[in-house]
Amino acid sequence: MFGTGLLKGLGVTLKHTLETFADDRGKVPDRYRDSIELGQGRRIINQPIDQEGLLTIQYPEEKRQLPERFRYIPMLIWDSEKNEDRCTACGICAKVCPPQCIWIVRDSDANGKPVTRPAEFYIDAAVCMSCSFCVEFCPFDAIKMNHDYELAVFDRYPQLVYDMEELTVPLEYYAALWPEQYAVEQEKRAKDEEEKKAQDEAKAKAAAAKAAAAAAKPAAAPAASSGGAKLSRAEELKRKAQERAAAKAGGDGESVPSPAASAAAADGEVDAKKARMEELKRKAQERARQRKAEAGE
Ligand code: SF4
Ligand code: SF4
Repeated sequence: MFGTGLLKGLGVTLKHTLETFADDRGKVPDRYRDSIELGQGRRIINQPIDQEGLLTIQYPEEKRQLPERFRYIPMLIWDSEKNEDRCTACGICAKVCPPQCIWIVRDSDANGKPVTRPAEFYIDAAVCMSCSFCVEFCPFDAIKMNHDYELAVFDRYPQLVYDMEELTVPLEYYAALWPEQYAVEQEKRAKDEEEKKAQDEAKAKAAAAKAAAAAAKPAAAPAASSGGAKLSRAEELKRKAQERAAAKAGGDGESVPSPAASAAAADGEVDAKKARMEELKRKAQERARQRKAEAGE
C-alpha cells in the first residue's frame, strides 16, 4: 500500500523517542552519578553504563565526558622533566599535514647556525581537519591532539591561527588527557633509554679495551728496534735517497747540485711530463681516427 514504508519509519522514530524519553527521565538520579561538578550548574556527565536510549545533555551547562581518543586540534608538548620543547623543528608534521595548515620556522644560534628547536610554530585551526597525521608521524612525541573544542570566534585571523605559545602545553596536561597512551609511551621510553644505556656502556668498554691495546703497542716497538736490526720505513727511504744522491754526484764527478740547478731539473721534469701527456693525447686521437676508418665512417 502506498505510504506503508513512511508509516513504518515514523513508527520506529516514535518508538526511539519514547524509549529515550523514558530512559532519560527514569535514570535522572543515575545520569549525575559519576558527573564532575564544575560549579554554577555546570557539570561533566559520564554516560551511565546501563543507559540504553539517548542521553540528553543540557549543553553548554552540561558536557559529555570525552573519551581519551577524542581529538580536536594539536598541541605541542613542553617536556617538564627536561625543561625544553620536545619539538625539534624537523618539519615532518608540516610535510604530512593533508591541508597544509602547519608552519614552522627553525630557530638558530648566535652565529646563525640552525638548531633543533622551533622559533615559530603555527597551526591554522580553521583549516585543521583533526586527522591526527601530524601526531602519528612525529618521531619525538612532540605533538599530540588536544581535547579543547570550544574554539569558536568571530574572526578567523588571527584568533584561529594558533602560535607556539598558544599551542604549547606541559607534559602533565597531556598525561592527564591521554593517561593510557601516556603510560604506554613512558614504558617504551624507559625501555629505549635502558637499551641506549646498555649500548653506550658496551661502546665505552670496547673503546677502553682499544685504548689499552694501543697503550701496550709502543712498549713492544722499542724492543723490536732496540737491536738495531731494523730501520723504520722513513729512515730506510731517507738512507736510500742519500745513497742515490751521493752515487749520482760521485758518478758525474760533480758536487751536490745547487738550488738553481734543482729548480731547472724540476722544470725539465714538468716539461717531460707535459710532452708525455701530449703524446698520449695524440695517440688516443690517432686510435679514434683508426676506429672510425675501420667502421667506414
Ligand atoms: S612536532 Fe614533531 S614532526 Fe613536527 S616539527 Fe616538531 S618534532 Fe618534527
Ligand atoms: S591534525 Fe591533521 S590537519 Fe590538523 S594539523 Fe595535524 S595533520 Fe594537519
